[in-house]
Amino acid sequence: MRLLVIGGVAAGLSAASRARRIDPSLEIVVLEKGADISYGACGLPYYLEGRVRDAGQLKVYTPEYFRTERNIAVRTGARVVSISHARREVVLDRAAERVHYDKLVIATGARPRTADFEGAASPQVFTLHTLEDAERLKTYLRDKQPKHALVIGAGYIGLETADALRRNGLAVTVVEQSPDVLGRGDAELTKAVRERLERFRVVLQLNTRVSDLQGYDLAIMATGLRPNVEIAAEAGVQLGPAGAIRVDEHMETNLPGVYAAGDCAEAPHLVTGRPAYIPLGTTANKMGRVAGANAAGRRERFGGIVGTAILNVFGMGVAFSGLSAGQARREGFSPVSARITANSRAGYFDGRPMTVELVADSATRRLLGGSIWGEDGVEGRINVIATALYNRMRVEDLEQLDLAYAPPFATVWDPVVIAAQQLSKMV
Ligand code: FAD
Repeated sequence: MRLLVIGGVAAGLSAASRARRIDPSLEIVVLEKGADISYGACGLPYYLEGRVRDAGQLKVYTPEYFRTERNIAVRTGARVVSISHARREVVLDRAAERVHYDKLVIATGARPRTADFEGAASPQVFTLHTLEDAERLKTYLRDKQPKHALVIGAGYIGLETADALRRNGLAVTVVEQSPDVLGRGDAELTKAVRERLERFRVVLQLNTRVSDLQGYDLAIMATGLRPNVEIAAEAGVQLGPAGAIRVDEHMETNLPGVYAAGDCAEAPHLVTGRPAYIPLGTTANKMGRVAGANAAGRRERFGGIVGTAILNVFGMGVAFSGLSAGQARREGFSPVSARITANSRAGYFDGRPMTVELVADSATRRLLGGSIWGEDGVEGRINVIATALYNRMRVEDLEQLDLAYAPPFATVWDPVVIAAQQLSKMV
Protein backbone atom coordinates (compact mmCIF):
# COMPACT_ATOMS: atom_id res chain seq x y z
CA MET A 1 0.00 0.00 0.00
CA ARG A 2 1.62 3.24 -1.12
CA LEU A 3 0.72 6.78 -0.11
CA LEU A 4 2.03 9.33 -2.56
CA VAL A 5 2.24 12.98 -1.58
CA ILE A 6 2.80 15.75 -4.12
CA GLY A 7 4.50 18.74 -2.48
CA GLY A 8 7.16 18.71 0.22
CA VAL A 9 6.45 21.70 2.44
CA ALA A 10 3.89 22.35 5.19
CA ALA A 11 0.81 20.43 4.07
CA GLY A 12 2.61 17.62 2.26
CA LEU A 13 5.04 16.81 5.02
CA SER A 14 2.39 17.11 7.74
CA ALA A 15 0.32 14.60 5.79
CA ALA A 16 3.23 12.21 5.29
CA SER A 17 4.35 12.41 8.93
CA ARG A 18 0.88 11.86 10.34
CA ALA A 19 0.24 8.92 8.01
CA ARG A 20 3.49 7.37 9.16
CA ARG A 21 2.54 7.67 12.82
CA ILE A 22 -0.80 6.02 12.15
CA ASP A 23 0.43 3.22 9.90
CA PRO A 24 4.05 2.11 10.31
CA SER A 25 3.67 -0.36 7.43
CA LEU A 26 2.57 2.15 4.78
CA GLU A 27 5.02 2.96 2.02
CA ILE A 28 5.15 6.77 1.85
CA VAL A 29 6.73 8.73 -0.99
CA VAL A 30 6.82 12.53 -1.21
CA LEU A 31 7.50 14.14 -4.61
CA GLU A 32 8.77 17.72 -4.51
CA LYS A 33 9.66 19.59 -7.68
CA GLY A 34 11.97 22.07 -5.98
CA ALA A 35 15.35 21.62 -4.35
CA ASP A 36 14.17 22.47 -0.82
CA ILE A 37 11.66 20.79 1.44
CA SER A 38 10.23 21.59 4.83
CA TYR A 39 11.15 25.25 5.10
CA GLY A 40 9.34 28.05 6.82
CA ALA A 41 8.30 30.48 4.10
CA CYS A 42 6.87 32.62 6.90
CA GLY A 43 10.43 33.48 7.89
CA LEU A 44 11.45 34.72 4.43
CA PRO A 45 10.78 38.43 5.12
CA TYR A 46 13.00 38.18 8.20
CA TYR A 47 15.72 36.48 6.19
CA LEU A 48 15.48 39.29 3.65
CA GLU A 49 15.64 41.83 6.44
CA GLY A 50 18.74 40.17 7.93
CA ARG A 51 17.27 39.28 11.32
CA VAL A 52 17.48 35.63 10.25
CA ARG A 53 21.09 35.45 9.17
CA ASP A 54 21.31 32.00 7.66
CA ALA A 55 18.73 30.49 5.28
CA GLY A 56 19.54 27.15 6.90
CA GLN A 57 17.67 28.35 10.00
CA LEU A 58 14.47 28.33 7.96
CA LYS A 59 14.91 24.72 6.90
CA VAL A 60 13.23 22.52 9.42
CA TYR A 61 14.00 18.99 8.15
CA THR A 62 16.01 17.41 5.35
CA PRO A 63 15.03 14.51 3.06
CA GLU A 64 17.67 12.50 4.92
CA TYR A 65 15.89 13.15 8.22
CA PHE A 66 12.61 11.92 6.76
CA ARG A 67 14.28 8.80 5.38
CA THR A 68 16.13 7.79 8.53
CA GLU A 69 13.78 9.03 11.25
CA ARG A 70 10.38 8.57 9.68
CA ASN A 71 10.89 6.02 6.94
CA ILE A 72 9.45 8.44 4.39
CA ALA A 73 11.07 8.71 0.96
CA VAL A 74 11.31 12.35 -0.13
CA ARG A 75 12.39 12.94 -3.71
CA THR A 76 13.37 16.48 -4.63
CA GLY A 77 13.57 17.68 -8.24
CA ALA A 78 10.56 15.44 -8.92
CA ARG A 79 7.88 17.42 -10.71
CA VAL A 80 4.56 15.73 -11.30
CA VAL A 81 3.18 16.71 -14.70
CA SER A 82 0.02 14.63 -14.71
CA ILE A 83 -2.15 12.35 -12.63
CA SER A 84 -4.03 9.38 -14.01
CA HIS A 85 -6.48 8.37 -11.33
CA ALA A 86 -7.87 5.49 -13.41
CA ARG A 87 -4.41 3.91 -13.36
CA ARG A 88 -3.57 5.22 -9.89
CA GLU A 89 -0.33 6.73 -11.09
CA VAL A 90 1.38 10.07 -11.59
CA VAL A 91 3.83 10.99 -14.32
CA LEU A 92 7.02 12.90 -13.62
CA ASP A 93 8.64 15.32 -16.05
CA ARG A 94 11.98 13.52 -15.74
CA ALA A 95 12.03 10.65 -18.27
CA ALA A 96 8.24 10.48 -18.05
CA GLU A 97 8.66 8.20 -15.05
CA ARG A 98 5.39 6.76 -13.71
CA VAL A 99 4.85 6.38 -10.00
CA HIS A 100 2.00 4.24 -8.69
CA TYR A 101 -0.20 5.20 -5.73
CA ASP A 102 -2.97 3.65 -3.71
CA LYS A 103 -3.75 6.88 -1.87
CA LEU A 104 -2.76 10.35 -3.03
CA VAL A 105 -2.38 13.65 -1.17
CA ILE A 106 -2.15 16.74 -3.36
CA ALA A 107 -0.27 19.46 -1.46
CA THR A 108 1.03 21.52 -4.35
CA GLY A 109 0.60 24.90 -2.67
CA ALA A 110 0.16 28.12 -4.60
CA ARG A 111 2.23 30.52 -6.65
CA PRO A 112 2.34 34.29 -6.69
CA ARG A 113 -0.05 36.00 -9.06
CA THR A 114 1.77 38.14 -11.53
CA ALA A 115 0.74 41.68 -12.30
CA ASP A 116 0.72 42.84 -15.88
CA PHE A 117 2.63 46.07 -16.40
CA GLU A 118 5.37 47.38 -18.62
CA GLY A 119 8.66 45.87 -17.44
CA ALA A 120 7.01 43.10 -15.40
CA ALA A 121 9.40 40.57 -16.91
CA SER A 122 12.57 42.60 -16.31
CA PRO A 123 15.31 41.26 -14.01
CA GLN A 124 14.67 43.78 -11.24
CA VAL A 125 11.17 42.39 -10.66
CA PHE A 126 10.89 39.71 -7.97
CA THR A 127 8.42 37.69 -5.97
CA LEU A 128 9.01 36.46 -2.44
CA HIS A 129 7.54 32.99 -2.26
CA THR A 130 10.31 30.42 -2.00
CA LEU A 131 13.77 30.18 -0.48
CA GLU A 132 15.16 30.49 -4.00
CA ASP A 133 13.26 33.77 -4.47
CA ALA A 134 14.73 35.09 -1.22
CA GLU A 135 18.27 34.07 -2.22
CA ARG A 136 17.91 35.74 -5.63
CA LEU A 137 16.59 38.87 -4.03
CA LYS A 138 19.35 38.99 -1.44
CA THR A 139 21.97 38.54 -4.15
CA TYR A 140 20.40 41.37 -6.13
CA LEU A 141 20.42 43.66 -3.09
CA ARG A 142 24.08 42.89 -2.47
CA ASP A 143 25.30 43.11 -6.07
CA LYS A 144 23.16 45.90 -7.52
CA GLN A 145 22.62 47.99 -4.40
CA PRO A 146 19.17 49.21 -5.50
CA LYS A 147 17.96 52.44 -3.92
CA HIS A 148 14.25 52.68 -4.74
CA ALA A 149 11.93 49.75 -4.24
CA LEU A 150 8.38 49.43 -5.42
CA VAL A 151 6.22 46.90 -3.61
CA ILE A 152 3.12 46.01 -5.57
CA GLY A 153 0.32 44.87 -3.29
CA ALA A 154 -0.47 45.78 0.32
CA GLY A 155 -1.33 42.32 1.55
CA TYR A 156 0.67 40.82 4.38
CA ILE A 157 3.56 39.68 2.17
CA GLY A 158 3.79 43.12 0.55
CA LEU A 159 3.79 44.91 3.91
CA GLU A 160 6.30 42.54 5.51
CA THR A 161 8.56 42.85 2.48
CA ALA A 162 8.30 46.65 2.56
CA ASP A 163 9.41 46.55 6.19
CA ALA A 164 12.36 44.28 5.36
CA LEU A 165 13.53 46.41 2.42
CA ARG A 166 13.21 49.67 4.36
CA ARG A 167 15.33 48.22 7.13
CA ASN A 168 17.92 47.47 4.44
CA GLY A 169 18.06 51.20 3.77
CA LEU A 170 15.99 51.35 0.58
CA ALA A 171 13.38 54.01 -0.13
CA VAL A 172 10.15 52.04 -0.40
CA THR A 173 6.82 52.78 -2.03
CA VAL A 174 3.89 50.38 -1.66
CA VAL A 175 1.17 50.57 -4.28
CA GLU A 176 -2.19 48.93 -3.89
CA GLN A 177 -4.98 48.93 -6.43
CA SER A 178 -7.80 48.79 -3.87
CA PRO A 179 -8.67 51.58 -1.40
CA ASP A 180 -7.55 49.50 1.61
CA VAL A 181 -4.70 47.36 2.88
CA LEU A 182 -4.80 43.66 3.74
CA GLY A 183 -7.94 42.96 1.73
CA ARG A 184 -10.21 43.75 4.70
CA GLY A 185 -12.02 46.77 3.28
CA ASP A 186 -11.36 48.40 6.65
CA ALA A 187 -10.67 52.14 6.51
CA GLU A 188 -9.53 52.46 10.15
CA LEU A 189 -7.10 49.56 9.88
CA THR A 190 -5.80 51.07 6.66
CA LYS A 191 -5.33 54.44 8.38
CA ALA A 192 -3.37 52.84 11.23
CA VAL A 193 -1.11 50.96 8.80
CA ARG A 194 -0.62 54.07 6.68
CA GLU A 195 0.42 56.11 9.72
CA ARG A 196 2.86 53.43 10.76
CA LEU A 197 4.38 53.21 7.27
CA GLU A 198 4.68 56.99 7.06
CA ARG A 199 6.44 57.09 10.42
CA PHE A 200 9.11 54.90 8.87
CA ARG A 201 9.06 56.92 5.65
CA VAL A 202 7.41 54.27 3.50
CA VAL A 203 5.00 55.73 0.97
CA LEU A 204 1.62 54.01 0.56
CA GLN A 205 -0.33 54.74 -2.61
CA LEU A 206 -3.83 53.29 -2.58
CA ASN A 207 -6.21 53.08 -5.56
CA THR A 208 -3.13 52.82 -7.75
CA ARG A 209 -2.39 50.34 -10.51
CA VAL A 210 1.19 50.03 -11.63
CA SER A 211 1.66 50.67 -15.31
CA ASP A 212 5.46 50.69 -15.47
CA LEU A 213 8.49 50.68 -13.20
CA GLN A 214 8.73 54.50 -13.16
CA GLY A 215 12.42 54.62 -12.35
CA TYR A 216 12.39 52.08 -9.51
CA ASP A 217 15.42 49.81 -9.52
CA LEU A 218 13.67 47.01 -7.66
CA ALA A 219 10.07 45.82 -7.67
CA ILE A 220 8.39 43.11 -5.63
CA MET A 221 5.17 41.62 -6.87
CA ALA A 222 3.02 40.73 -3.90
CA THR A 223 -0.33 40.66 -5.62
CA GLY A 224 -1.77 37.53 -4.07
CA LEU A 225 -1.68 33.82 -4.74
CA ARG A 226 -3.02 31.45 -7.34
CA PRO A 227 -3.50 27.84 -6.19
CA ASN A 228 -1.46 25.19 -8.06
CA VAL A 229 -4.36 23.08 -9.24
CA GLU A 230 -3.71 22.45 -12.93
CA ILE A 231 -2.58 18.82 -12.70
CA ALA A 232 -5.40 18.05 -10.26
CA ALA A 233 -8.05 19.71 -12.41
CA GLU A 234 -6.84 17.88 -15.52
CA ALA A 235 -7.22 14.62 -13.61
CA GLY A 236 -10.86 15.41 -12.86
CA VAL A 237 -10.49 16.89 -9.36
CA GLN A 238 -13.24 19.46 -8.78
CA LEU A 239 -12.39 23.06 -7.94
CA GLY A 240 -14.36 25.51 -5.83
CA PRO A 241 -15.44 29.05 -6.75
CA ALA A 242 -12.06 30.58 -5.82
CA GLY A 243 -10.30 28.14 -8.14
CA ALA A 244 -8.79 26.05 -5.32
CA ILE A 245 -9.41 22.33 -4.84
CA ARG A 246 -12.76 21.51 -3.31
CA VAL A 247 -12.47 19.09 -0.40
CA ASP A 248 -14.92 17.65 2.11
CA GLU A 249 -14.36 17.88 5.86
CA HIS A 250 -12.09 14.84 5.62
CA MET A 251 -9.91 16.65 3.07
CA GLU A 252 -10.99 14.20 0.39
CA THR A 253 -11.60 15.45 -3.14
CA ASN A 254 -14.35 14.19 -5.41
CA LEU A 255 -11.97 11.38 -6.48
CA PRO A 256 -12.03 8.64 -3.85
CA GLY A 257 -8.68 8.13 -2.14
CA VAL A 258 -7.37 11.47 -3.42
CA TYR A 259 -6.95 14.13 -0.74
CA ALA A 260 -5.85 17.76 -0.95
CA ALA A 261 -4.50 20.11 1.70
CA GLY A 262 -2.83 23.47 2.17
CA ASP A 263 -2.55 26.41 -0.19
CA CYS A 264 -3.93 24.44 -3.15
CA ALA A 265 -7.25 23.76 -1.40
CA GLU A 266 -10.17 25.68 -0.01
CA ALA A 267 -11.27 25.39 3.61
CA PRO A 268 -14.64 25.75 5.32
CA HIS A 269 -15.02 29.21 6.85
CA LEU A 270 -16.87 28.89 10.13
CA VAL A 271 -18.22 32.45 10.17
CA THR A 272 -19.67 32.52 6.66
CA GLY A 273 -20.48 28.82 6.62
CA ARG A 274 -19.05 28.59 3.11
CA PRO A 275 -15.69 27.42 1.74
CA ALA A 276 -13.03 30.10 1.54
CA TYR A 277 -9.58 30.41 0.07
CA ILE A 278 -7.32 31.92 2.75
CA PRO A 279 -3.92 30.27 2.22
CA LEU A 280 -1.87 30.27 5.43
CA GLY A 281 0.73 28.05 7.02
CA THR A 282 -1.30 27.23 10.12
CA THR A 283 -4.17 25.99 7.99
CA ALA A 284 -1.85 24.06 5.67
CA ASN A 285 -0.35 22.11 8.56
CA LYS A 286 -3.73 21.25 10.07
CA MET A 287 -5.29 20.26 6.77
CA GLY A 288 -2.24 18.19 5.91
CA ARG A 289 -2.48 16.36 9.21
CA VAL A 290 -6.09 15.42 8.59
CA ALA A 291 -5.43 14.44 4.97
CA GLY A 292 -2.54 12.21 6.07
CA ALA A 293 -4.57 10.58 8.84
CA ASN A 294 -7.43 9.78 6.50
CA ALA A 295 -5.17 8.58 3.72
CA ALA A 296 -3.77 6.15 6.31
CA GLY A 297 -7.22 4.79 7.12
CA ARG A 298 -8.61 7.08 9.82
CA ARG A 299 -11.77 9.18 9.50
CA GLU A 300 -10.76 12.52 10.99
CA ARG A 301 -12.27 15.87 10.18
CA PHE A 302 -10.85 19.34 9.78
CA GLY A 303 -12.77 21.82 11.93
CA GLY A 304 -12.47 24.78 9.58
CA ILE A 305 -10.98 28.26 9.70
CA VAL A 306 -12.06 31.67 10.91
CA GLY A 307 -9.49 33.62 8.88
CA THR A 308 -7.04 34.58 11.63
CA ALA A 309 -3.82 36.32 10.64
CA ILE A 310 -1.18 38.51 12.21
CA LEU A 311 1.71 40.51 10.82
CA ASN A 312 4.36 42.90 11.94
CA VAL A 313 4.43 46.38 10.38
CA PHE A 314 7.48 48.20 11.70
CA GLY A 315 7.00 46.97 15.25
CA MET A 316 3.22 47.28 15.22
CA GLY A 317 1.29 44.04 15.44
CA VAL A 318 -1.69 44.01 13.08
CA ALA A 319 -4.09 41.11 13.47
CA PHE A 320 -7.58 40.13 12.48
CA SER A 321 -9.92 37.22 12.59
CA GLY A 322 -13.32 36.61 11.06
CA LEU A 323 -14.98 39.33 9.00
CA SER A 324 -14.62 43.09 8.89
CA ALA A 325 -17.89 45.06 8.96
CA GLY A 326 -17.76 45.52 5.18
CA GLN A 327 -17.11 41.84 4.55
CA ALA A 328 -19.91 40.90 6.93
CA ARG A 329 -22.34 43.17 5.08
CA ARG A 330 -21.38 41.57 1.79
CA GLU A 331 -22.02 38.16 3.33
CA GLY A 332 -25.58 39.16 4.15
CA PHE A 333 -25.20 39.86 7.88
CA SER A 334 -26.39 43.05 9.59
CA PRO A 335 -23.12 44.04 11.22
CA VAL A 336 -22.56 46.54 13.99
CA SER A 337 -19.08 47.35 15.20
CA ALA A 338 -17.36 49.02 18.12
CA ARG A 339 -13.80 50.26 18.30
CA ILE A 340 -11.91 51.11 21.47
CA THR A 341 -8.33 52.00 22.34
CA ALA A 342 -6.99 50.77 25.68
CA ASN A 343 -3.68 49.92 27.28
CA SER A 344 -2.15 46.51 26.63
CA ARG A 345 -1.06 46.24 30.29
CA ALA A 346 -0.67 48.47 33.31
CA GLY A 347 0.74 51.88 32.50
CA TYR A 348 3.47 51.43 35.09
CA PHE A 349 4.54 48.29 33.20
CA ASP A 350 4.99 50.17 29.96
CA GLY A 351 1.48 49.43 28.71
CA ARG A 352 0.96 50.52 25.11
CA PRO A 353 -2.25 51.64 23.47
CA MET A 354 -3.94 48.99 21.39
CA THR A 355 -7.00 49.41 19.23
CA VAL A 356 -9.59 46.65 19.24
CA GLU A 357 -12.48 46.59 16.81
CA LEU A 358 -15.23 43.98 17.17
CA VAL A 359 -17.98 43.24 14.69
CA ALA A 360 -21.21 41.42 15.58
CA ASP A 361 -24.42 40.55 13.83
CA SER A 362 -27.22 42.76 15.18
CA ALA A 363 -29.81 40.09 14.40
CA THR A 364 -28.22 37.34 16.52
CA ARG A 365 -25.60 39.20 18.65
CA ARG A 366 -23.11 36.65 17.36
CA LEU A 367 -19.52 37.83 17.04
CA LEU A 368 -18.47 37.99 13.38
CA GLY A 369 -14.94 39.31 13.54
CA GLY A 370 -12.37 41.54 15.07
CA SER A 371 -9.18 43.37 14.32
CA ILE A 372 -6.45 44.64 16.62
CA TRP A 373 -3.39 46.78 16.17
CA GLY A 374 -0.78 48.00 18.60
CA GLU A 375 2.81 47.60 19.71
CA ASP A 376 2.18 45.11 22.48
CA GLY A 377 -0.04 42.17 23.34
CA VAL A 378 -1.83 41.88 20.00
CA GLU A 379 -1.25 38.14 19.53
CA GLY A 380 -2.87 37.06 22.79
CA ARG A 381 -5.97 39.17 22.22
CA ILE A 382 -6.55 38.13 18.61
CA ASN A 383 -6.37 34.52 19.73
CA VAL A 384 -9.16 35.21 22.23
CA ILE A 385 -11.24 36.59 19.37
CA ALA A 386 -10.36 33.64 17.12
CA THR A 387 -11.42 31.23 19.86
CA ALA A 388 -14.67 33.12 20.36
CA LEU A 389 -15.37 32.97 16.64
CA TYR A 390 -14.56 29.28 16.48
CA ASN A 391 -17.09 28.69 19.23
CA ARG A 392 -19.73 30.98 17.69
CA MET A 393 -19.82 33.11 20.81
CA ARG A 394 -22.10 36.10 21.27
CA VAL A 395 -21.14 39.54 22.48
CA GLU A 396 -22.35 38.92 26.02
CA ASP A 397 -20.20 35.77 26.22
CA LEU A 398 -17.14 37.85 25.38
CA GLU A 399 -18.01 40.37 28.07
CA GLN A 400 -18.00 37.58 30.64
CA LEU A 401 -14.68 35.98 29.69
CA ASP A 402 -12.46 35.20 32.64
CA LEU A 403 -9.18 36.47 31.17
CA ALA A 404 -5.83 36.55 32.94
CA TYR A 405 -4.75 39.70 34.72
CA ALA A 406 -1.65 40.86 36.53
CA PRO A 407 -0.09 44.29 35.90
CA PRO A 408 2.95 43.07 33.87
CA PHE A 409 0.66 41.27 31.40
CA ALA A 410 -2.73 42.95 31.10
CA THR A 411 -5.13 45.46 32.54
CA VAL A 412 -7.87 44.58 34.97
CA TRP A 413 -10.40 45.20 32.23
CA ASP A 414 -8.89 43.51 29.23
CA PRO A 415 -9.12 45.50 25.95
CA VAL A 416 -11.17 42.67 24.36
CA VAL A 417 -13.67 42.80 27.22
CA ILE A 418 -13.85 46.60 27.02
CA ALA A 419 -14.56 46.36 23.29
CA ALA A 420 -17.24 43.74 23.92
CA GLN A 421 -18.87 46.00 26.53
CA GLN A 422 -18.90 48.82 24.04
CA LEU A 423 -20.35 46.62 21.32
CA SER A 424 -22.96 45.26 23.69
CA LYS A 425 -24.48 48.74 23.94
CA MET A 426 -24.98 48.76 20.19
CA VAL A 427 -26.39 45.35 19.29
P1 FAD B 1 3.79 25.30 -0.25
O1 FAD B 1 4.57 25.74 0.93
O2 FAD B 1 3.64 26.23 -1.41
O3 FAD B 1 4.42 23.93 -0.77
C1 FAD B 1 3.94 23.30 -1.92
C2 FAD B 1 5.08 22.56 -2.54
O4 FAD B 1 4.59 21.79 -3.62
C3 FAD B 1 6.15 23.48 -3.13
O5 FAD B 1 7.39 23.23 -2.55
C4 FAD B 1 6.13 23.17 -4.61
O6 FAD B 1 7.42 23.20 -5.19
C5 FAD B 1 5.55 21.77 -4.63
N1 FAD B 1 4.89 21.44 -5.89
C6 FAD B 1 3.96 22.19 -6.55
N2 FAD B 1 3.59 21.58 -7.69
C7 FAD B 1 4.29 20.44 -7.77
C8 FAD B 1 4.34 19.39 -8.73
N3 FAD B 1 3.60 19.42 -9.82
N4 FAD B 1 5.18 18.35 -8.50
C9 FAD B 1 5.95 18.30 -7.37
N5 FAD B 1 5.94 19.28 -6.44
C10 FAD B 1 5.12 20.33 -6.62
N6 FAD B 1 1.53 31.72 6.79
C11 FAD B 1 1.21 31.96 8.10
O7 FAD B 1 0.34 31.25 8.65
N7 FAD B 1 1.85 32.94 8.81
C12 FAD B 1 2.83 33.72 8.27
O8 FAD B 1 3.42 34.57 8.95
C13 FAD B 1 3.17 33.50 6.90
N8 FAD B 1 4.13 34.26 6.31
C14 FAD B 1 4.48 34.02 5.01
C15 FAD B 1 5.44 34.80 4.42
C16 FAD B 1 5.80 34.58 3.10
C17 FAD B 1 6.84 35.45 2.46
C18 FAD B 1 5.19 33.53 2.37
C19 FAD B 1 5.57 33.26 0.94
C20 FAD B 1 4.21 32.74 2.95
C21 FAD B 1 3.84 32.97 4.27
N9 FAD B 1 2.85 32.22 4.89
C22 FAD B 1 2.49 32.46 6.19
C23 FAD B 1 2.09 31.19 4.14
C24 FAD B 1 2.66 29.80 4.32
O9 FAD B 1 4.03 29.80 4.06
C25 FAD B 1 1.93 28.87 3.36
O10 FAD B 1 0.55 28.92 3.66
C26 FAD B 1 2.41 27.44 3.46
O11 FAD B 1 3.75 27.34 3.07
C27 FAD B 1 1.57 26.56 2.56
O12 FAD B 1 2.06 25.27 2.63
P2 FAD B 1 1.72 24.24 1.47
O13 FAD B 1 2.43 22.98 1.85
O14 FAD B 1 0.26 24.18 1.24
O15 FAD B 1 2.29 24.89 0.14
